[in-house]
Amino acid sequence: MVTAQTLAPHQGSLTFFTGPMACGKTLELVRHLQIFREQQIPLICLRPSIDTRTPTVQSRGGLLHDAIAININDFSAIRDAIDAKLVIGIDEVQFFPTEIVSLLETELRRGKTILISGLDNDFRGQMFPTSQAIMALPETIIQRSRAVCSVCRQYNATRTQRLRHGKPVPIHDPQVLIDDLADGVTYEARCLTHHEIT
Ligand SMILES: [Zn+2]
Repeated sequence: MVTAQTLAPHQGSLTFFTGPMACGKTLELVRHLQIFREQQIPLICLRPSIDTRTPTVQSRGGLLHDAIAININDFSAIRDAIDAKLVIGIDEVQFFPTEIVSLLETELRRGKTILISGLDNDFRGQMFPTSQAIMALPETIIQRSRAVCSVCRQYNATRTQRLRHGKPVPIHDPQVLIDDLADGVTYEARCLTHHEIT
């Protein structure tokens, strides 16, 4: 028999803004967080502490949102950080381990609004495991965007090209680069036709 106690609480929502680099996914994350921030809804935005490019989540569109850099493997810190918040933002989610998805599913059951931004695929065009796991959750609303291809300048870029000293990198390059291997490495958005791996 269904009673008030057995009824599930209000179900939350999980939206994943994804695509290649420079597709506006962080812009979308920031824009949605701003909607809740204006209404003083308790929220938090996390970003991986290994991503040292900027002290705050920064989209290429220039909008800023305060974000807390967190150790991607410190789940007790992540749980503590998000526990009392109604809206949870995560930027660069592809750097977090896949275990974060079950944590997010728990928060979804608790009625949270979860807004995530991250790359879908690596430089080889293969899915990052965590992005794949998020997209596999039946409740995930996937907002996949495209970028402008750096070669043909068409709005059809679905891939992130990795270059080292301007040349496409080989397929055996690591999926995530550590600093001493990242020397001379740049990224650009490219379409399927112009995406190159050697
Ligand atoms: Zn192209």
